[in-house]
Amino acid sequence: SPVLAIESSCDDTACAIVGTDGTIMAEATLSQSGHVPFGGVVPEIAARAHLGALPALVRDVLARAGMRPGDIGAVAASCGPGLIGGLIVGANFAKGLAIALERPFIAVNHIEAHALTARLPGIAPDGAPFPYLLLLVSGGHCQCIAVEGVGHYRRLGGTIDDAAGEAFDKVAKMLGLGWPGGPAVEALAREGDPAAFALPRPLMGRAGCDFSFSGLKTAVAQKLAPYDRDALPHDVAAGLAASFQLAVSDIVADRIGHALDMMPDARGLVAAGGVAANTVLRARLTDIARARGLPFAAPPLRLCTDNAVMVAWAAIETMREAAARGLPIPDDIALRPRPRWPLGEMAARLAAPQA
Ligand code: ATP
Ligand code: FE
Repeated sequence: SPVLAIESSCDDTACAIVGTDGTIMAEATLSQSGHVPFGGVVPEIAARAHLGALPALVRDVLARAGMRPGDIGAVAASCGPGLIGGLIVGANFAKGLAIALERPFIAVNHIEAHALTARLPGIAPDGAPFPYLLLLVSGGHCQCIAVEGVGHYRRLGGTIDDAAGEAFDKVAKMLGLGWPGGPAVEALAREGDPAAFALPRPLMGRAGCDFSFSGLKTAVAQKLAPYDRDALPHDVAAGLAASFQLAVSDIVADRIGHALDMMPDARGLVAAGGVAANTVLRARLTDIARARGLPFAAPPLRLCTDNAVMVAWAAIETMREAAARGLPIPDDIALRPRPRWPLGEMAARLAAPQA
């Protein structure tokens, strides 16, 4: 029977009901707007907003799925990594539901959920078989991960300073575009010349697949310095947005090339996280994969950013994997949400108990 999942690790409150075959029965995501005046997520505001939104959201998703609470087979929630206040609110809500319904509660690692989303039926034509190279690019993360199986993740490299989404958000702020910045920068870039400004490409050509965006962000600030912030000419703003987006795409393309060299057994390239919604970046990744004869897959935009469908799906994959290994369904009712929860610790969940 279906899994009801909750996501509350950052500023999106989400609930979804997904069948064990991956059928999405209902889903809803509320993006909190209370942070806009602050230009970033305020943890305390986020936690209170999750608490306020969850009861009606869950009731609404159940109604849309045409289901009663008793029809749910298991309850899942993101339990880390993320902002601890929101994680506690979402996990405790889900645990309460699981206890009331006498169903198992499954704790989901938010990054693992992003990593497995491309395996939802209907996203990748070949179902994204393991092993694949995952590029996770979001507001808080920028990593290359070898996804070798459910619970088996190997970090190949990652950012040494800012995440890609963070860079988009900061550049958006400099251009006066508001927050969150990624979609606004992409829209403005469409009207600009990507060759308008020469910007650096930190770490490009270097060994390995680490990323760095902080120097690029500083360079954008320097290009803006001669202009009056309140009277920035449109072609300058658009040209800078386009040049910045091209620089990010060049950096990511170079790093992903190296990551694929480090993972010769990869059967595909998968992108996830909010920045994977960027169409220019997606086109580049498609080309890189094609040049190596590999398929490229990325979830549709609404499943790239934080959502609860991916949390339900990760729980389903975990339950399947446990069943395949002859293990009981994990019951995580006593597991505490964790602000940090390295992917490397996930394998232990699916290891046979020591005799
Ligand atoms: P995390 O998953 O790392 O905990 P998050 O909640 O910030 O953090 P997501 O919701 O996956 O992550 O992604 C949000 C980020 O994606 C923001 O930084 C946003 O600017 C960026 N983003 C969204 N759409 C685009 C786009 N079209 N182009 C570039 N960046 C984008
Ligand atoms: Fe996320």
